This record gives sequence, structure tokens and C-alpha cells, in this order.
Amino acid sequence: MEKFDLETLVRPNILVLHPYSSARDEFTGDEGIFLDANENPFGQTNRYPDPHQRLLKKALSERKQIPVENIFIGNGSDEAIDLIYRIFCEPQQDRVIICPPTYGMYEVSANINNVEVIQVPLNDQFELDIDKILSHRAQCIFVCSPNNPTGNRLQNIERLLREFQGIVIIDEAYIDFSSGSSFLKKLPYHPNLIVMQTFSKAWGLAGARVGIAYASAEIIALMDKTKPPYNISSLNQAEALKVLSNPHEFERQLSIILEQRSLLEKELKELAVVRHIYPSDANFLLVEVTDANAIYQYLVDKKVIVRNRSTVVRNCLRITVGTPEENRVLLDALGKMTEETGGKGDWGKGRLGSL
Ligand code: PMP
Repeated sequence: MEKFDLETLVRPNILVLHPYSSARDEFTGDEGIFLDANENPFGQTNRYPDPHQRLLKKALSERKQIPVENIFIGNGSDEAIDLIYRIFCEPQQDRVIICPPTYGMYEVSANINNVEVIQVPLNDQFELDIDKILSHRAQCIFVCSPNNPTGNRLQNIERLLREFQGIVIIDEAYIDFSSGSSFLKKLPYHPNLIVMQTFSKAWGLAGARVGIAYASAEIIALMDKTKPPYNISSLNQAEALKVLSNPHEFERQLSIILEQRSLLEKELKELAVVRHIYPSDANFLLVEVTDANAIYQYLVDKKVIVRNRSTVVRNCLRITVGTPEENRVLLDALGKMTEETGGKGDWGKGRLGSL
């Protein structure tokens, strides 16, 4: 992007915003008698958490080799998505570009913030249509790589970063499962880039709600001043620190998931109900089947829940890689279904009615 001027992209009310100054902002020492935040003096979780998540940012900074001033921690990536709209998009005036099929929250969050969505669908290879994207004027574009639900890493993001005249958000929620590299190392060259990652996937902390955004120090400062002061609970900061301190367990789980992804792919391919498996750089497979609705319901009846994505990609199920035991149950159920339907994977209308 030529001649980048961040201020021209920021909503004027956010530029002049004076953030809330919390008790923990005004006194930052660890020791003393704390009578400054109207807390209950008794108990275990009675104190407000560090609003700046200093310990967690330091640990992340060491792991990722990114300075702390380039790190924002959110209550899930979903908080970062919402903040991006509130910082950069004037409701009923500014626009965002989204490239479906992709993660649904980019659009829902735009709708909540009353920001117009321009949809530029991925092409039939599930790649970005860059010329079409560049023909539009918008404050922001969200791209997801590896993409949910298609599972592929997007090519051509570099060109977008160079030529798009707005903020480019690359959601790398699934990057740890990918053989490709992260855009984090490109941050110093692109002042319009925000890279989102999360503790919800490979780090195994979906229940804790800890998301991350990496960007220039200026963008991170805007996100920090706009967020609610205590957005990450002390319990969740501690959980994230705990998993970061055990990289061996992270690697162990990751290698099982990757091995299981290959095994699932290999075995699913053998089933007559499976028409196509899209290559995956994530912890799920997008699988085209003979009859997604019937197979989804069959699996639900067997207490195996996958995601029916047939409304966004025709006849497709999105199957998350589970434990070896869970994957076995899924494969056995699909194998049994194949037998019951004589290899066709659908029962015809009459039988479907009784499912
Ligand atoms: N981004 C993508 C692409 C996702 O698929 C998801 C969750 N399914 C998220 C973000 C949400 O992440 P978090 O749990 O950090 O809010």
C-alpha cells in the first residue's frame, strides 16, 4: 500500500477517545494494601485482572518473536473482529469486503455494527478474486487463511497487501495446522495488516476465550484503548500462560491431529458416500458427499455431530479431526451407512422420511 495514513482510516470519535483509566492503570505495583478498586478483600479471584495482560503478552512475545507493543489480546478472536469494526468503520457509511464461503462472524459482526458488507466470493478454486476485490472501495477486508470451511490456504494475499487501500485482516485461526507460514513476519512491511490468531484451536483453549491480534503498535494502541478494560479474566490469562509454558504438549497434540487428519482423509476416500475431499491445511476436512442432509442426520442419530455446510458449499460436510477413538466411531458409522445403502449413501425419498 502506497503512502499509508492510518488516521484517515480511523473513526474520528475513536481518534479523540480518552480511554477509561482503571485502578490498575493508575497504580501498577504488585505489593501493598489495595483499597483502590472497590474489590472484596477476601477470596481467591477477588482482584481485577491485569488489564494489559503483561505476563501473557511477554510469554507470547517470546514464543512468536514479536514485540509486546504489536500484540493485542481479546476475549476470543470474535472480540478483535468487533473492535476492528468499531475502530475503522463508521456505521451506515463505511464498507467491508468479505469473501464467502468463510467464517460467519465477519458478516454478523458487520451487521451488528451496521456496516455494509460487500461480498466478493472466492472463485471455484476457493481462491481470492483479487481484481474484483480491488475494484471496490472499502475500509477493511477480512480474509481467512487457512480458510474455514474450505480448509485451504489462500494464495495472492501478498498482492492484496500491496494494493488494497484499507486494512487487511488475515485470520490465521488454523495456521498451526498448516504447512504454510504465517504472515506475522510480514508485519513490519505492511502498516495496514492485522494478523489474528487464537488459543481456541491448536492450543486447545476454546473454553477460555483468548484471541490474539498482531499489528503495528499504532493499530494495537487503538485496539487497547477501545476494548473494555478487564476483557480477559485472570483465570483465562492463567490458562493461556499455562499452555504456553508447555510447548511439548502442544506439539504432541498437534502431531496426533495432523496424523489423524491424513488417516481420516485416506479412509473417507474409500467410502462410496464420499465424492470429494478438499485438501486441508486446518484441523477439519470439507467433504463432498452423495447426500449431505441424509448423512448428517444419520450421523446425528449415531451421536456423531459434524457440521452440515451444504448451504454454503453444495453437499458438503465439515468434519473436525477428533481423537483417534472419535474418528474411528465416525468412520465405522459411515462404513455401516455405506453397507446399508448398498454403497449409494442415500435411501431415496421413502427411507429418508423415516430417519
Ligand atoms: N476465526 C475462524 C476462522 C474461526 O473458524 C473461528 C472459530 N470457529 C474463530 C476465528 C473464533 O475464534 P475465537 O474462539 O478465538 O473467538
